[in-house]
Amino acid sequence: MKIVLTGPPGAGKGTQAKRLVPRFGVEHLSTGDLLRAEIKQGTELGKQAEGIMAAGDLVPDELIIEMIQPRIRAAAEGPGYLLDGYPRTQAQAEALLGMAAPADVTPDVAIVLFVPAPVLTERLLNRAEAEKRPDDTPEAIENRLRFYTESTRPVHEMFRALGVLQVINAQGTEDEVADAILERIPVGA
Ligand code: AMP
Repeated sequence: MKIVLTGPPGAGKGTQAKRLVPRFGVEHLSTGDLLRAEIKQGTELGKQAEGIMAAGDLVPDELIIEMIQPRIRAAAEGPGYLLDGYPRTQAQAEALLGMAAPADVTPDVAIVLFVPAPVLTERLLNRAEAEKRPDDTPEAIENRLRFYTESTRPVHEMFRALGVLQVINAQGTEDEVADAILERIPVGA
């Protein structure tokens, strides 16, 4: 099974990913988590990404693609994947969808978690209190929501054209959203 899980910041991607990963036995590939690990380890990539992430801007495509694509290929050849936070731009989507054989890396399903913008801002500000993420400041949140609208939404059309796009109302409880997602995952994929 190959799943893309997308949606604006604060839609609950991480929470739903944690449920889907054990259920399907796939590898969880979160570009945000990988970048935070690079920062923690003090790597060159981490140093390059840190300020960009704190501001809520997008890390350059070349860096992201180089970091994630080999992992996607390996997962596609093995247990399958759940992509969380990738692809976020047209160039990233092209890198994903342009990957050829030996393993077919094309997603079986691309799930968009839909939550209206005012609800997202409130959720993110609440999370800022609880988790102390440096990119949950009001300015960074505004940037992240803007990048989502301008750069990531157009990517959904590529998944729609492939016939794999599923838009889920993600305003309910965690359980409701999880059920709604499972209903839309193709059986036998
Ligand atoms: P996330 O944990 O997915 O909300 O990502 C946190 C931050 O990491 C984002 O606001 C970006 O600065 C950066 N980031 C994560 N994934 C990507 C990506 N696919 N492309 C560019 N930047 C990313």
